[in-house]
Amino acid sequence: MLLTITTTHRPATDLGYLLHKHPDKVQGFPLSFGEATVFYPEATQERCTVALLVEVDPVALVRGKTWRDSVSDHYVNDRPYTASSFLSVALGQVFSTALAGHCKARPELVDQALPLEAVIAVVPSRGGESLIRRLFEPLGYDVVVAGAPLDDQFPEWGDSPYYTVRLNAALPLQRLLSHLYVLMPVLDNDKHYYVGADEVSKLLRHGEGWLEVHPERELITWRYLRRSRRLVTEALARLVPEEAADDEPPIAQDRVPSLHEQRLMAVVEVLKTHGVRRVLDLGCGEGRLLRYLLRDPAFADVVGMDVSHVALEHARERLKLDHLPSRLEGKVALLHGSLTYRDRRLAGFDGAALVEVIEHLDPARIAAFERVVFEFAHPPVVVLTTPNAEYNQLFPAMAAGAMRHSDHRFEWTRHEFAEWAQAVADRYGYNLLVQGLGPEDPVVGTPSQMGVFTHHDR
Ligand code: SAH
Repeated sequence: MLLTITTTHRPATDLGYLLHKHPDKVQGFPLSFGEATVFYPEATQERCTVALLVEVDPVALVRGKTWRDSVSDHYVNDRPYTASSFLSVALGQVFSTALAGHCKARPELVDQALPLEAVIAVVPSRGGESLIRRLFEPLGYDVVVAGAPLDDQFPEWGDSPYYTVRLNAALPLQRLLSHLYVLMPVLDNDKHYYVGADEVSKLLRHGEGWLEVHPERELITWRYLRRSRRLVTEALARLVPEEAADDEPPIAQDRVPSLHEQRLMAVVEVLKTHGVRRVLDLGCGEGRLLRYLLRDPAFADVVGMDVSHVALEHARERLKLDHLPSRLEGKVALLHGSLTYRDRRLAGFDGAALVEVIEHLDPARIAAFERVVFEFAHPPVVVLTTPNAEYNQLFPAMAAGAMRHSDHRFEWTRHEFAEWAQAVADRYGYNLLVQGLGPEDPVVGTPSQMGVFTHHDR
């Protein structure tokens, strides 16, 4: 992989001072995964270009287990050729002083905007050209992207995820280096090393002054920290402290809600928007949603149903049903029953929630379930959530093709879910709105998905 940075600032050879690398020399730097070389293809007063060539030794990678992802068992992978987290590590080591914004010889140049052009070959972008633009254009770059077909011989295979990127802007060199340092692994959506707690500090340090105002800061943080929810939460809270502070208990003030909490809050919002007062929580499990519904005065009558006695016992304990304050007494009831059998107790409600339940049903029983919920119980509003199977590839610990829970009978893609939901809506006289839940990846979407069904006459 090759990064070149060119300036036409006069004298252009000041670039050598800023980078602490002499324009007349070719210098090599050993790295844990290969080698970096710095040289200047051109160095005149008018124009000066520095090149950082990073060579990754694929054999050392596999042997040293530096590359800990699924490709780690293969000598043949794209790592040696692509500008990914390896480029970031090389930048951090070879240009550490410049990245930190120090320059004894030319201190006045450190914060000065210089005309700079960076060319990076080859950039893997999981998210295509549009992601490259979404990341760099808000930072003020003029972006030129050249794609490459997957295989010259077979154009019908389509484009590869590899691009050559040319960035032009007038900005301090240190800024350019920080942008590249943070955004290369974000584009690639992978890191060759373990992401620990110090990555949050690294991200905040290198993102200082631009990340907090970047429109894609959540995506950047999410991908940079390799989707570690704990780290992302911490980083976002430190980045924009006021954002995490407006949630009500029980969600602690200092953290972003978990995916399940976001899901439950979204479901509660939908129910309230539709004026639902008498609500069913079908497949209520241990009563996580019931807890929200119980506390919220918008709901008058709350009934949870589950097929599992054990889950219902846990719900009873979680909700402290035997010790409710008198104003809440009688507000909640728990029913034991199965959603695959018609049940008269489910009639007469304004709304029903089915949170992460349908994927627990045997596919052969789905038709019965549809009738039980949409034909017999037939509440005016049904809110149903289920995982988005496409997102699974982004969970680093999940094997390909695996499901999120051992009890899941299937997991739908966005298309499969939308198709099923639309057919049900059409058959039973509902309007349908499908929506993603959780942080959105430009390629595979959100981790969870929600269908909101409302009676035609509402
Ligand atoms: N809605 C809860 C629980 C989701 S787990 C939450 O969001 O936390 C799925 C639940 O569906 C389990 O509690 C399981 O017992 C229940 N379930 C599975 N098959 C069912 C069926 N046929 N009828 C009713 N509940 C069922």
